[in-house]
Amino acid sequence: MSVGKTYHLSCYIRQYCKNYHECHQSWAQSRPHTTASLSTKQFSRIHAAPLPHSTRIPITRRSKPSNHSHQTTLSMFRRTAMARVESACSIISSLFPKVACSAILTWSLWAVLFKVNDRIRQQHQQPKLARFLDVSLLLMYLLCMYTYYKIIVVGAGSPTDYHELRIEDLNQYNSSNPYDSVTQPHDPLGNPPVEVMTIHNFGKSGYRYCSKCAAWKPDRAHHCSRENKCILRMDHHCPWFAVCIGFFNQKFFVQFLCYIALYATIVCVDTSVVLYKFFSQELYNDEIISLNLVALFVVSLAFAVSVSIFAGFLIYLVLCNYTTIEFQERRWNYSGNATEQTFQYQFDDRGTKQKLGNIYDLGYVKNWKSIMGPNWFHWLFPITLTNHSIHAKLLNGINFEVNEEVYEKWCYNAQLQDQLNQQLANYRARNRREASDERA
Ligand SMILES: [Zn+2]
Ligand SMILES: [Zn+2]
Repeated sequence: MSVGKTYHLSCYIRQYCKNYHECHQSWAQSRPHTTASLSTKQFSRIHAAPLPHSTRIPITRRSKPSNHSHQTTLSMFRRTAMARVESACSIISSLFPKVACSAILTWSLWAVLFKVNDRIRQQHQQPKLARFLDVSLLLMYLLCMYTYYKIIVVGAGSPTDYHELRIEDLNQYNSSNPYDSVTQPHDPLGNPPVEVMTIHNFGKSGYRYCSKCAAWKPDRAHHCSRENKCILRMDHHCPWFAVCIGFFNQKFFVQFLCYIALYATIVCVDTSVVLYKFFSQELYNDEIISLNLVALFVVSLAFAVSVSIFAGFLIYLVLCNYTTIEFQERRWNYSGNATEQTFQYQFDDRGTKQKLGNIYDLGYVKNWKSIMGPNWFHWLFPITLTNHSIHAKLLNGINFEVNEEVYEKWCYNAQLQDQLNQQLANYRARNRREASDERA
């Protein structure tokens, strides 16, 4: 079981600092963005829990107080310096994809307008075609940039955004050992707020919640270790945006990939026509080929191919109503590695294991409309469809419509499995009793 970032942070604090408050303050001052991402509650929870005996750091009494004070100052200085370096690295890693993507897009627009379309206008005597390409590529560029930043600004959405889903008294249910990553309570926490959310719970005791976020986990939500928070309908963490793709930005992500694929394809065709004429008409005898032209061709070809494949895969997932995580889980289940979710399978007459189907699959059209919007205008342009209100039912990423047929089958299988487990437990208990009676 993985131990989250919070616990690593706790270890770090414990090793380097004897006074928690002093340390917390130094962290808050030196790396405000990191501290902001971890709530005070998480900090206090970890600190309040007693340190396990085996991991306690021995505190030796110093003979010279002045030396001790000097070393403490040195240690504080080192810690602050480390925190600053870490903070700078974090900012750079978050900024790098944004700067790189914006730079590549802007350079490609400049190169295609001034190096490619200019040639079409001047050398090939096609001013109307050049103007049409100028306008259409500029529009595509604006759409790409707008959608790119919209994905980042809107974000994927998290259960912690809704105060109704936060669990206030998680502390009393957690283990006293902060190094245990608790995912299931020994005692059920009770029920999640049923008036705002429906959690589908098959054959498990207790409902899903995240101890790191201290929040109920709706269906399809997962914890992102990079951002250290739960993400609604999590698809994946995308390094090109440095954010997660989830319920609120999934539609824009699909559109962004389609825009990029189209933009790169137009640029690639545009550039390859100019390059073809350059070589076929043997223009290299009179002039040197522009390096921008060649680079643009290579980059646009690479993007057109790779992004088109990825966009095609993502459209397939949208049509089937799978997230990338669910798609991967399905593949692992097929290979027989997952033993937990056996209620999702049935066996035919020959004993072959068969998947019962995707519980969220409502048919291609309904699946597509549930994510991309009700009509073609919503499909083509980045128009917001979701709603951040807790009462927005299917639009807030908390609840999802399910395929009733598959749901019934899953429920039936879960009940059947429960009965079988109970029978097996009774049988074993009886066997044990009989064996002990015989011995007596
Ligand atoms: Zn979480
Ligand atoms: Zn993430």
